[in-house]
Amino acid sequence: MPAPFKLAPLPWDEDALAPTISANTISFHYHKHHQTYVDTLNKLVEGSKFAGMKLEEIVQATFKSNDAKEKTLFNNAGQVWNHDFYWRSLTPAKTEPSGELNSAIAAAFGSKDALIAQLADAGKTQFGSGWAWLVMKDGKLAIEKTPNAETPMAVGTNCLLTVDVWEHAYYLDYQNARPKYLEAVLGKILNWEFASENMSKKAVRAAAE
Ligand code: MN
Repeated sequence: MPAPFKLAPLPWDEDALAPTISANTISFHYHKHHQTYVDTLNKLVEGSKFAGMKLEEIVQATFKSNDAKEKTLFNNAGQVWNHDFYWRSLTPAKTEPSGELNSAIAAAFGSKDALIAQLADAGKTQFGSGWAWLVMKDGKLAIEKTPNAETPMAVGTNCLLTVDVWEHAYYLDYQNARPKYLEAVLGKILNWEFASENMSKKAVRAAAE
C-alpha cells in the first residue's frame, strides 16, 4: 500500500506480553517511536518520486543511497517495516515450531535451543542499535543482525522473525541488561506460527495484507 502510510494495529493488547515486555514499554515503543517513524516517513514521501511506491519498494530503492534525504527516508521506511514485523514476531500464545519449520530448524541448527542461542548472540553482539533476525537464505534458515534501520528485506532476503535490540525496546523493563531481555523474549514470546507463515511466502512480504 503506498503513502500515506498508517501505523498498523498491534496484533495483541498492549499488556499481553507482560511481564516479558511491560505495557509501559509497548506503549512508548508503539505510540511514540513507531508512530514517529510513520509520521516522518509520510512527510518525506509527500510530493517525492517515492509517493506512489509501496513501503518495501521504498526501503529497497533507498537502501545504500548516497543522497542525504534518501538516507533519512530509508531510515524511517526501514523502521516502519521493521517495527511492524517485530510486533508480529511476538505473541503471548506460547507457540512452538512445527512441520516444515521444525525440520528446517533441525537441519540448520540442530535444535530450537541452538537456534535461540545463536539469535541471542546476534542480538547481544549487535553494537549499538539494531535488529537480530531469523531469515531464509538460499533455501536454508540463517541468523543475521543489522544496524539501525537496516533489514535483510532491503536486499530481498525472506525474513521469518526479528527482535528489536534498540535500547528503547528494553530499557524501561531491563535497563541496560540487553541479554536478559533477549533471554526472556526468545524463550517465551516468539511467534513461531508467524515464522512458518513467512517461510512459505515470497522473499518480500506485502505490508498491507
Ligand atoms: Mn524499536
